[in-house]
Amino acid sequence: MRTSHLSAPSLRQAEAESRHDLLDVTSYDVRLELASDTETFGSVTEIRFESRGGPTFVDLKPVRVNQLRFNDAPLDADLLREGRLPLDTLPGSNVLRVDAVMGFRNDGEGLHRSVDPADGRHYVYGMSFMDAAPSVFACFDQPDLKAPYTFHVTAPLDWTVVGNAPGEQVEPGTWEFATTQPLSTYFVTLVAGPYHVLRDEHDGIPLRLSARASLAGELERDAEELFTMTGQCFDEFHRRFGIRYPFGDYHQAFVPEFNAGAMENPGCVTFRDPYLFPSRVTRGARVLRATTVAHEMAHQWFGNIVTPKWWDDLWLNESFAEYLGNRVTADVTEYDDAWVHLSYQRRQWGLTSDQRPSTHPVAGNGAADARAALNDFDGISYVKGASILRQVNATIGDEAFFAGAIDHFTRHRFGNATMHDLFASWEHAGADDLSAFTDTWLRAPGPDVIELDRDARVLRRTPPPEHPADRPHRFTAAQAEGGQWRRVDVTLTGPETAYDPGTAPVVIDPDEHSWGVYVPDGTTLAGLVDLLPEIKDESLRAGVWNNVRSGFHHGAVDPAAVVELLVASLPIEDTQDGARHLMPWVLAWVLPTAPAGSADRVHAAALAKLTECGAGSELQLSAFRAAVHTCGDASMLRGWLERMPDGLDLDVDLRWRLLVRLATLGATERAELDAALADEPTAQSRVEHTRAVASLPTPEGKAFAWERFDGSVDVPNYELDAAGRGMWRGGHEAVTEEYIERYFAELPRAGEVHSGWVLGDATEVFFPLTADRPEILDRARAVMALPDLDRTIHRRLADCADDLRRKLAIRAAFPLR
Ligand SMILES: [Zn+2]
Repeated sequence: MRTSHLSAPSLRQAEAESRHDLLDVTSYDVRLELASDTETFGSVTEIRFESRGGPTFVDLKPVRVNQLRFNDAPLDADLLREGRLPLDTLPGSNVLRVDAVMGFRNDGEGLHRSVDPADGRHYVYGMSFMDAAPSVFACFDQPDLKAPYTFHVTAPLDWTVVGNAPGEQVEPGTWEFATTQPLSTYFVTLVAGPYHVLRDEHDGIPLRLSARASLAGELERDAEELFTMTGQCFDEFHRRFGIRYPFGDYHQAFVPEFNAGAMENPGCVTFRDPYLFPSRVTRGARVLRATTVAHEMAHQWFGNIVTPKWWDDLWLNESFAEYLGNRVTADVTEYDDAWVHLSYQRRQWGLTSDQRPSTHPVAGNGAADARAALNDFDGISYVKGASILRQVNATIGDEAFFAGAIDHFTRHRFGNATMHDLFASWEHAGADDLSAFTDTWLRAPGPDVIELDRDARVLRRTPPPEHPADRPHRFTAAQAEGGQWRRVDVTLTGPETAYDPGTAPVVIDPDEHSWGVYVPDGTTLAGLVDLLPEIKDESLRAGVWNNVRSGFHHGAVDPAAVVELLVASLPIEDTQDGARHLMPWVLAWVLPTAPAGSADRVHAAALAKLTECGAGSELQLSAFRAAVHTCGDASMLRGWLERMPDGLDLDVDLRWRLLVRLATLGATERAELDAALADEPTAQSRVEHTRAVASLPTPEGKAFAWERFDGSVDVPNYELDAAGRGMWRGGHEAVTEEYIERYFAELPRAGEVHSGWVLGDATEVFFPLTADRPEILDRARAVMALPDLDRTIHRRLADCADDLRRKLAIRAAFPLR
């Protein structure tokens, strides 16, 4: 369903400020009529607000308008232009009533509707985030015009309806909800459908979990873990924040085709439902889910009780939720090893973002409008911001850190605040003046490069030349002496700091006390080939890989040396997540730049691991995945489809990994893939089927993918993503060549068929990844120079081009012999 949201301009900060100065919103009353077999739904909204008097507008993105009334007079629907309805407000009380028909969406925004292929049932969830709320109900769509909401919903008889406040079915198909606390528009939600719901209670808070009926088994299996950790996290947040969770029930809904990991809607958090696991997963996947649960809970305070005034302070939300979600998970849940897993999962995301031309300060990202701000929900706002908060915490101590947070929540309860307010609260709580820290870490973009100059006996700190800053660093370095690792405290306060490890290999800041691009030297790399397999300290091992990865992206570590290290360590790598999270990087970055035969060597190492490690172990599962993704032998893959190694089951995940690899090698046909989908027609199968078909090295396979990009075939977000990721494969150049030019020619118009999150995703996943030639950079730059290019497309294309530039630089530094 395409609605007018595609052409609507995004709210600018100055517009938000003047509307905030003009209005106080008193209440929203929203009446939605949902049905399972229509493309649209009814939406009647009554907004009561006070005004200082004068012109403004309300945001509204309907399919059509039935009737408008403003202060007891009809309003002409023709006034609605590009998602904005002008209002000439009276001084004092005003009432606007909008009776409209809205469109369900399939891109994960607005009111998203999904049809479960497993049973044909329809599911709906709301994602108002950023600027999608007006495609569900009329509103003043900005974070700092909060108001209480009262929802009334009619829905099919077999549906359950959940919202931000407790609700009940007052008669069959009619749901009434309590009035909420004051909410920002971007976290107003509704989850409706024949969901399977589980109930529990903790410390007086009703807890709920829900998922599609076809995932009921998966939900039941993990419910105890989820309820338990939710309770543990509530206890810890209550202890730390001293303020109780104020939004009534706490419902965690696993919903289909959700773009992000989760969304922190007060009282009704939505999660991507691949977080329920139909197949076996590693501990790392569970850690990621656990930290996501805790992250969204942290948002109930940072984000929902106190909300950033504008999107330029979105880091206040995300950095806090990232830091405290991770910390609380590690401190009070069964996942006490969360930090190690996060080292593998998150650190490079942040560092890569921070090294791009598109880098921005953590604080004050300069987001001019809501849609541009979406691009800043990146590794900087999450991971770098969390790293800096960890430094703030180490500097001022827990007592002042949490006392300041409590002061902040108390002063701005159910309101909005800025970074300045938070730092004032910290100073109020006894912290020293943090302005020097703020200027160098929060307001200055880019990471310092920190490298050991062994001959000069110094650690050298180099800020990015385009963003000079004088940042102090405090961390420990790990030195290997006689096979033993010793931690040494290091403080860098200038460009060079004396440091003499002799001939000892050195890992810089393995405990992640600071933030930088740490580059291992040649002596360290050579020593690590023997040392890494013996390291028992998992945090140190994660630190080794982060040093190696940083050095590699910096063009200072030979891809061949990475392969040596990987081959040496894979067969004994005992941090399951190590293998799991290194492999995507190895496949995307290392192997395309490493000497011929490297993939075979990694494959052989994975096979060796497969036979060495215990049947049924998680490590075996990781080794098997690595072996599949590097396998060039179709008969071996076929053999596994016939009979899996002992200890591994052919579950839906592994079946499709094998089929996708066979497709990539050109060793299967469309008919076999269609049959596999028909055999097990789940939502996950449908996505993997798309990935597999797009991975075929045939004109038909690539055309199948492309039709999804250009919009001639309209598919939900997950299938679009899988099509792009399947399309560009090494060795498929003969059939993908024509799409290079088509990508650059058609990309500027992609905003006519995709929007928001999906537009950014499509820009990235359809970028010609395997066409790694310098002229592609020129082609990308030409598109980026187009006037009026959509900002989301521009940002994502710039980031893809930066990846390509980096890959070409690594190749130039280490030419293949
Ligand atoms: Zn978040």
